[in-house]
Amino acid sequence: MLRARRLICAGATAISLAGCLAGAVGPGTTTNVDLTAPGDVDVVRFVYLGSGGWIIERGEDQVLAAPLFSNPGLLTTGLLPIRSDTVLVDRYMSRYDVSAAKAILVGHAHYDHLMDVPRVILVHAPTARIVGTTTVKNTLGTWSGVGDRVDVVNDIAGDQHTVGEWLHYGEGVRVMGLRSKHAAHFNGYTLYRGTRDRPLTAEPRWATEWLEGRSHAYLVDFMNADGSVAFRVYYQDAVSPAPAGFAPEELIEQHPVDMAIFVPATFDQVDWHPEAFVENLRPKHVLLGHWENFFVPIEAPTKSVLLTDLGHFEARLARVHDGGWWRPDLWTEFRFPVW
Ligand SMILES: [Zn+2]
Repeated sequence: MLRARRLICAGATAISLAGCLAGAVGPGTTTNVDLTAPGDVDVVRFVYLGSGGWIIERGEDQVLAAPLFSNPGLLTTGLLPIRSDTVLVDRYMSRYDVSAAKAILVGHAHYDHLMDVPRVILVHAPTARIVGTTTVKNTLGTWSGVGDRVDVVNDIAGDQHTVGEWLHYGEGVRVMGLRSKHAAHFNGYTLYRGTRDRPLTAEPRWATEWLEGRSHAYLVDFMNADGSVAFRVYYQDAVSPAPAGFAPEELIEQHPVDMAIFVPATFDQVDWHPEAFVENLRPKHVLLGHWENFFVPIEAPTKSVLLTDLGHFEARLARVHDGGWWRPDLWTEFRFPVW
């Protein structure tokens, strides 16, 4: 039934609940989506910040996924030094109150997931912890002033068959790293590979210095007072070859994922993305992030991500996923009830 509605809605540039019925979905969502009913007080909110960036919050519990606002151009990134544009970071991060954010998720240490993080947490999210790897911590090193704010997940992450260790951020939210991998960017070739084993004392100058390190996906659980899971989020910031990036089956058995955030960019470099992840996570709903060309200014008219056939990805997702799914434009907001 939902699939039929989706066909009706597909192709629309703006999807509204009124027009497409509650739960109906379509690609290219430009308007905010609110699946809550009047009177719903227990609500989870998502805001798309572009690239891998999200605000995910339930009440007082707010988690960020690392945004990229600087967006150096393709030629610049390939040929010249790059650095965070703090004016842009301040301009765009100031749109939202993230001052009480508890954690910021970094799946790997490429520049598009880490370069703007120091400014975000120094100025905008002053008490947030960074969740990432040893390479994330060492890349931030001593020069950034935030290297000691990284909670390292290398040795505590879970996988399909192993429940990892939860990182608790207050009573209401917990995060688990999931061992993942970074798909190739093109033709089997992955840029900026390697780990960083010593803290950097100077800011990286070149894109090639933002080494990937290990890659992780994350489970984020918003918790009820009785210790049960109220709402479970899966977040990935790079395509991964399944079963790398899977959540522990034991946990999904207890509580399937309520919202999975998938990356379509470069999905065709691996097999069975997104199908394998839909099977593993059993997500109620799906959001697509990191899908657009991030070599242009963030507010430029949105263009599809380089080298990826988004339509193909979305057709494959729609074949295996019966719930709602959205590919949001920049700043799109979503509100979901805690079911
Ligand atoms: Zn990457």
